[in-house]
Amino acid sequence: MTAQRIDGKAFAARLRERVGEAAAGFATKAGRRPGLAVVLVGEDPASNVYVRSKGKATVAANMESFEHRLAADTSDADLLALVDQLNNDDAVDGILVQLPLPGHLDEQSIIAAISPDKDVDGFHVINAGRLSVGQSGFVPCTPLGCMMLLTDRLGDLSGLEAVVIGRSNIVGKPMAQLLVDANATVTIAHSRTKGLASVVKRADIVVAAVGRPEMIGKDWLKDGATVIDVGINRLPPEPGADKGKLVGDVAFAEASEVAGAITPVPGGVGPMTIAVLLRNTLVAAHRNAGLTAPEGL
Ligand code: NAD
Repeated sequence: MTAQRIDGKAFAARLRERVGEAAAGFATKAGRRPGLAVVLVGEDPASNVYVRSKGKATVAANMESFEHRLAADTSDADLLALVDQLNNDDAVDGILVQLPLPGHLDEQSIIAAISPDKDVDGFHVINAGRLSVGQSGFVPCTPLGCMMLLTDRLGDLSGLEAVVIGRSNIVGKPMAQLLVDANATVTIAHSRTKGLASVVKRADIVVAAVGRPEMIGKDWLKDGATVIDVGINRLPPEPGADKGKLVGDVAFAEASEVAGAITPVPGGVGPMTIAVLLRNTLVAAHRNAGLTAPEGL
């Protein structure tokens, strides 16, 4: 069998387009565009790239982008004051504080200070709690994007065996919750799981969010499994190259011989994250303006 390639890049482009159209419709009704504020503290090169591409995608989706770049030595108090200002700014529907923050800052208290109704990353404990008890809130972008790819591919997930590898607050745990809510039978595996390969082998759906290059080989997979690879890992550069290749947590080529469908890295889950962030911002804008968010986004 050769697995179908799940094209997250194309799916994300379609989602961004639908969000952009709905954002234009919002602007007509509300008299303003949806607004996303992104806060970057320090000069982390990867974060810089993410923030720049989020800004571009926001503008391309007919939304306002507010970028706040703060010095690496910004204090907790100054960052909290900015978050407070953004919480009270009616032009701002979504607030994203780019993580990781420099080590001297208290990440948890900064996230806790963001208004849950503007927490489009879905990292606030109120939104984690809402997801856990089935109330509508904001769901972290990466797992929600994975869920969209899964339901697009498989339709109803009822009764399917799903194994999520990784238990982080931003990917593994919300992913597992979304799968349970979709009536899958879910196992969360992690660094202390015994016999990981045999746990993964029973899965109809595998979501890998570990951060270990090509850890999951074809022997781990059940025939026909749907594999969602969240991992983004850079291999050491080949001689003469200045950058190594990007790979996922799954050995793509060999896994494709067994899986029914699989996301590539890059071009799978990665592009979904920004598209879902825009989707969450659009939903926030509607809620903040007392309007009904469009269906099916
Ligand atoms: P994390 O480091 O917070 O969590 C990793 C998880 O993997 C942990 O829960 C740990 O228990 C588990 N783990 C570690 N070693 C293991 C092993 N040998 N066997 C089984 N489980 C093991 O990472 P994260 O933030 O959840 O991200 C995971 C990966 O996903 C990273 O590669 C990250 O770059 C990537 N990521 C991608 C996107 C995207 O947009 N595509 C978004 C977020 C994270």
